[in-house]
Amino acid sequence: MISGECLKSLTLPLRYPPRSFVYFIYTAAKPIVGILISTLILVFWLGSLIFLLPIDLTERSGWWLPASILGRTFIHTGLFIVAHDAMHGNLFPSNRQINDWMGSISIRLYALLPYRKSCLSHWSHHQSPGQASDPDFHDGTHTHLLSWYVKFMGGYLNIQQNLVLVVGMSLIFHTLRLVFIFLQLICCCFGYYRSF
Ligand SMILES: [Zn+2]
Repeated sequence: MISGECLKSLTLPLRYPPRSFVYFIYTAAKPIVGILISTLILVFWLGSLIFLLPIDLTERSGWWLPASILGRTFIHTGLFIVAHDAMHGNLFPSNRQINDWMGSISIRLYALLPYRKSCLSHWSHHQSPGQASDPDFHDGTHTHLLSWYVKFMGGYLNIQQNLVLVVGMSLIFHTLRLVFIFLQLICCCFGYYRSF
């Protein structure tokens, strides 16, 4: 948890003279820095997906697979961080509509989660942290990993939404896989195939 003093120091303005170039850049970039970084994360997420999906990692040297998994995991976690900041209205404070739009895209790409429902659950987490009404609260009775996971997800999504999550993610994965296999076959037929 961030202490009050620490939080205060984080929100203090930069100590540059008001007429300096650095201060000008800081004040100009401050309102859009959140939306710029989140856009960059989305671009990296999509770019790395397009780059990695057609690659047959079994034909690559040993470090490709762990590096790809680690890299994609890192960028994918970034999607949730973007969505989280949007839930708090910090992504683009001057325009709540764009803020929520970006949050909605990010959380759906992250795990097909509904943005509004996630906002409500997350706000109740902050309103009563560590208490029974906190969806992240561990009640101590669901000690098995699977039962804890089911209870945890139940705090965020109903059964229908959980089904959409599991079935939807599987459908997207296998559809993308088939699309790329199909594209490689087309390339092979026309002699354009090359090993990436
Ligand atoms: Zn939060």
